[in-house]
This record gives sequence, C-alpha cells and structure tokens, in this order.
Amino acid sequence: LNIGRPKQQGPQKIPGVERIIAIASGKGGVGKSTVAGNLAVALAAEGRRVGMLDADVYGPSQPRILGVSGRPASPDGKIIMPLRNHGVTMMSIGLMTAEDEAVVWRGPMLMGALQQMMNQVRWGRLDVLIVDLPPGTGDVQMTLTQKFEVTGAVIVSTPQDLALLDARKALDMFAKMNTRIFGMIENMSTHICSNCGFEEHIFGHGGAQADAERLGLPFLGEIPLDIEIRKAADGGAPIVVSAPESRQALAFRAIAREL
Ligand code: ADP
Repeated sequence: LNIGRPKQQGPQKIPGVERIIAIASGKGGVGKSTVAGNLAVALAAEGRRVGMLDADVYGPSQPRILGVSGRPASPDGKIIMPLRNHGVTMMSIGLMTAEDEAVVWRGPMLMGALQQMMNQVRWGRLDVLIVDLPPGTGDVQMTLTQKFEVTGAVIVSTPQDLALLDARKALDMFAKMNTRIFGMIENMSTHICSNCGFEEHIFGHGGAQADAERLGLPFLGEIPLDIEIRKAADGGAPIVVSAPESRQALAFRAIAREL
C-alpha cells in the first residue's frame, strides 16, 4: 500500500463520479452490508450507473453478496481494475486480502487503503458510488468524510434499543463532519413466518422510525427479517436480482428511488 500524506487538503471529488453515498451503522450485524448490496443492485435496476466500494475492513462481505471473486488486476501497479456483476462496478478491501485473513490494520493503514481504493480504482463514469462502511465511528468514516465529497449517508439500524443507541452515535459523527444524512432504514423490522404467515416483531418495531422523526430525519423505509433475503445475499445474487418482483425487492427499490 502507498501510505503517504495526501497532497490535497479538503474534501475531493472522484473524477467521473457524480455522487458518493455512505451506508453506515452504529453496530455490526444489523444488516448494513445486506442493505448496501441490495440498494446497489436496486439503483442499477433503476437505470443508474452504480459502483460499490466495500470499505468494511472488519468483515468485507460485498464479494459474497454481489457474487464476485478473484483478485482485481492492476496492470501498471497503480490503477486497479474493478470487478463487475449484476450491473454494479465493485471493489472490496476483501479482494485485496485472502478471504480468511483477518484485517488487523492500524488507523493510518486503513486510511491509506481507503484512499487507494477511492483514487486508484478505475471507477469509470458513475451516477452513484455506494460505500459500505465498517460499523461504528472510526478511522474509515473519518477519512471518507474528511477527504472526499460525500453526498450523504444512510444509517441502517435494527429496531432494538441498543442498535438505535449506537445509530445515534453514527448520526452524531456525520453531523460533526457536516455530512448530510439521507435518512434511516429499519432492517429486520418484522418477521413473517414462511410457514404460516404470522407476523412477529422479534426485535421490536418502529424504533428507527420514531428516532428518525425525533431527530427530524427522513425515515427511508423498513426491510423485514426474512430468510429469502439472507439466502439470496449468501448466494451471491441479492433478492432484488434473484426475486425482482418480490415484496422484499420492491421495498429495496422504493428506498433506492429516494437516494
Ligand atoms: P452488517 O453489515 O451490519 O454487519 P450483514 O449485512 O453482514 O450485517 O448481515 C448480518 C447477517 O444477517 C447476514 O447473515 C445477513 O444475511 C443477515 N441479514 C441481514 N439483513 C437481513 C434481513 N433483512 N433478513 C434476514 N437476514 C438478514
């Protein structure tokens, strides 16, 4: 990795990239990456040119969710050629390390890796570059919002109070960095039994919406806890691609149209 002092000060644009949208969460395991992957393919289905930068250094899962593998080529050792699937141009920190290799990096290395992926990947012309952030409020979030012109952030939370508490911290950080918040998405909102159709609120319900309203933020929508969403994400074709007419896919597409 080339780690050095960045030459430019202040947030920069990536040439050819219209908008950068960060997908964030306070906690891990709330489905941020699943939501990010589905939103990316939903945006592509809406006719937008979409890129996905998987910057979740602690658990990069976009290669699995978007069904790509292999090491991206770097013909001259500088430019990195992104991979592409389901209409999404993508790069993941997970493609730069072996799949079962834990990323134990210090802050400056993370910052270097993020800047390298933003600047050296040949993204081409994109309407939207989705950045799947690690959970929390660490170095990657700081670097992204300080160094790049982020159009806005989307916060993913489950309805549980604890996840919401952490989501509020993420909101606070973006506010401090003067990054616009598009709104909140409540994931794992309700569970519908695939056997009998009974609807249950396993993690509670409506907390993210109530929170968003209290903070004056738009509520972008809710996604159910659903086995098909999980299976599709594990299978490398998000539900928006594998079952485009399903209720779940339409929920993602409705949210994507608001971004
Ligand atoms: P995060 O990025 O927040 O750590 P992931 O997207 O990796 O979370 O999701 C964690 C686990 O939960 C994964 O196994 C994923 O398939 C599953 N999952 C996420 N959202 C849903 C959902 N709406 N319904 C069912 N499973 C989900």
